[in-house]
Order: sequence, then C-alpha cells, then structure tokens
Amino acid sequence: MREIQTGSIIEAVKDAAIRANLDLGEDVLRALESGLDRETSPVGKEILAQLLENAKIAREDRIPICQDTGVAVIFAEVGQEVHISGGDFKSALEEGIRLGYEQGYLRKSICHPFTRKNTGDNTPVVVHLDMVPGDRIRIWVVPKGGGSENMSRLFMLAPSAGWTGVKERVVQTVAEAGPNPCPPTIVGVGIGGNFERSAILAKKALLRPLGTENPDPELRPMEHELLEEINKTGVGPQGLGGRITSLAVHVLMMPCHIASLPLAVNIQCHASRHVEVLL
Ligand code: SF4
Repeated sequence: MREIQTGSIIEAVKDAAIRANLDLGEDVLRALESGLDRETSPVGKEILAQLLENAKIAREDRIPICQDTGVAVIFAEVGQEVHISGGDFKSALEEGIRLGYEQGYLRKSICHPFTRKNTGDNTPVVVHLDMVPGDRIRIWVVPKGGGSENMSRLFMLAPSAGWTGVKERVVQTVAEAGPNPCPPTIVGVGIGGNFERSAILAKKALLRPLGTENPDPELRPMEHELLEEINKTGVGPQGLGGRITSLAVHVLMMPCHIASLPLAVNIQCHASRHVEVLL
C-alpha cells in the first residue's frame, strides 16, 4: 500500500485549477495555429489570431483565458494500492478547487438552480472517479464553460439509425449551436453505453490531447469524417463564417443494450482547459 496524504491532493488540485484557467495547453495553441493557417475567411483568420493573442496575454499577465472559469470537473483514477490518509478523497478535491478559485481570483460560477444564489466558492465539484490497478492517483482538472456545455446534447437513437444517424445528429448539433459555444470548438462524442455513460464518454473524449490520433482504428476514420462534415457547415470561428468551425472531433465508444443506440455530443469551446497531475 502506498500512502498519499490529502494535503498533497489539495495542493495538486489547487495548482491545477489555477494553471488550467491561465495557461492554454500547448496542444490547443498548436491547433489554433494550424486553424489560422488553414482558415480562408479574413474575419475567421482575424478571430483565430485574436484567440492566440488572448492566450498569450493570459499566460504572461497571469489572468484567466476567459471570464467564464467554468464548472470544476475532475476525472480521477485512483490506484487500488493507494491508501489516502488525512481525510477523505472527495473533500480533498473540493478543498483544492475552493482554494484554487479563491487564490487564483477565478470567477465563482456555481449557483442554486432556481434561486441562482452563488455557492461562493465554485463547489460542488463534478467528480468522475475510477478505481484502477496500481499505486498512483491520476487527476485531470477540466474547467468547463457554460456556453459550450449548454450546446451539448444527448440522444437515445433507435439502433437502426446506425452510423448515418449518429453522423447526422453530431453535425446537426454543432450547426445548430452556431456561435453559442464560442467556436472553434472541440467536439467530444460518446457512442454506446447507456444514458449517463454516453455523456461521460463524450466528456472524457475531450481529455485526449489535440493533434493525437485515436488509438482505436475503428474510431479514427469516424473522427476524420465527422470533422470534415462539421467544417463544411461554414459556422466558422465565433460563428462569423469560415472553414474552421471545429479543431477536432474525439470519439469514445462502448457496447450498448440491443434496444438502444445512445449518443452524446459534448461541445468544448476554444478555451479547452485540462491539466493532468500524477501523484
Ligand atoms: S463557452 Fe468557453 S470561451 Fe465561451 S464564454 Fe464560456 S468558457 Fe469562455
């Protein structure tokens, strides 16, 4: 058994929350640069250049990439040979986010659904926890903006819809979203599982670094085809027209019930924030 103190989990999550909101990842910067090279619309090119400049200013002046610092989403894999001491794991994650949003001067965006009273510290955190072999803890801190989350969709398709039906719904979701999710976007697609699993797959698909190929040879051509179709819609950067509506499509898939074909589309804006830490 390897012992990990909650104090080091809190510190790691706090630091990751601040870094995620201030430093746009190298993979996203490279994708935006590539988009700038390939975009043909002058307005689209100008927007992509501004997004790159915005990211540079945020990094240098230590200010958030976007005013919407998001819902704090955490994916965590806990090795079954880890013993967590000094408190419980979930409380440590909450405390790390609480401190990160306070000390990083990040906007607190979480409120009661009806009264809209702010919880004041950006908690509760949305945690997706997996037990895995080994003696390490891997944590991804993924702040998710409200604009792009609002444009995400879940469909329980008939099995006969097949790949054609899946493709239509994914492209339709991105096209109907228009400028609302702050394109260029990254589109996470979860196929199969059940109602809630497809949504988690779609969000988890966004964790894969941009510019990397899907390791599953069945899914790789699906991603290429979806991206091509999405970028034919002409939505373009910030919805003002152009070729670069999305930077990438990432797909995860798993078996499902014989009567179902669940499909979730989780749209991620250009402020694609994800920091991974290994303890
Ligand atoms: S969708 Fe993304 S870029 Fe747009 S306001 Fe929200 S966090 Fe910012």
